[in-house]
Amino acid sequence: RIVVLGSINMDLITRTPSLPDPGETVLGTSFTTSPGGKGSNQAIAAAKAGVPVSFIGAVGDDEFGETLRRTLSSAGVDDRALRTAPGSSGIAAISVDDHAENSIVVVPGANEHVRGLTDDDLAVISDAAILLCQLEIPLDTVVTAFEYARSRGVVTMLNPSPVQDLPDALVAATDVLVVNEAEEARLGNRVSEVAHVITTLGARGARYRGSESFEVAAPRVDAVDTTGAGDAFAGALAASWFDGPRTAVEWACAAGSFAATRPGASTSSGTRADIDALRDA
Ligand code: ADP
Repeated sequence: RIVVLGSINMDLITRTPSLPDPGETVLGTSFTTSPGGKGSNQAIAAAKAGVPVSFIGAVGDDEFGETLRRTLSSAGVDDRALRTAPGSSGIAAISVDDHAENSIVVVPGANEHVRGLTDDDLAVISDAAILLCQLEIPLDTVVTAFEYARSRGVVTMLNPSPVQDLPDALVAATDVLVVNEAEEARLGNRVSEVAHVITTLGARGARYRGSESFEVAAPRVDAVDTTGAGDAFAGALAASWFDGPRTAVEWACAAGSFAATRPGASTSSGTRADIDALRDA
């Protein structure tokens, strides 16, 4: 069993010929909503890959909260540790223009309320084989969870996104670090303190450094939307981690590449069969 502790958001996406200047109103051409948040995306990716997944996080007591909860449960993610906090769910208001330029406002909302872990949360963590976190919820909560997981022999996997300075205690409690090239550059020497470091290289694939070092090429695909590719990679990596680093990184690459062929974030991740087919192609 995997447990993901992290964010869950509703993305509110408008398309418009040109982005508004301050004070300006423009007419848009379409509006869609799409479940997002790195925590939720990664949990859904791992569940679709066929392993049992529990999610710890929070939605608001608004309509988005209901929809987000249903999104997790219909993907097969155990939502018993998902709380409903007073106020708004996390949202990202995204505007995209005809040149694919965007402007984004993120309101963390309920994600900011994931502070402190209940006894039930701790029980979910200690029952898991892997704890997977990102940094879209309060940092202290992630540190507490990682230290607890470490004390219970649960493997800790960190995707430090959005990237920021990492407290020593967090690095010390991390077994597996999953970063893209920009995050790796920003973290500098800190990455060398972690036993297993996986760097995603976009269309080029991914690199592993740990008990050995190797690079895996991504399957060649016609990428239509790489949103969510990194989350699909992280979810699949957690799902296959106990098959060993080489198999896990190969499989995660195929999962990332599959997601790049589909639009959306949490909706773009593949099933185990989708990923196997791409890896063996
Ligand atoms: P992030 O989106 O977090 O910056 P990357 O861009 O490195 O992460 O992509 C994560 C993974 O998704 C890659 O390791 C690769 O497997 C897959 N991927 C991303 N972009 C492409 C692409 N254009 N073609 C094939 N695979 C891709």
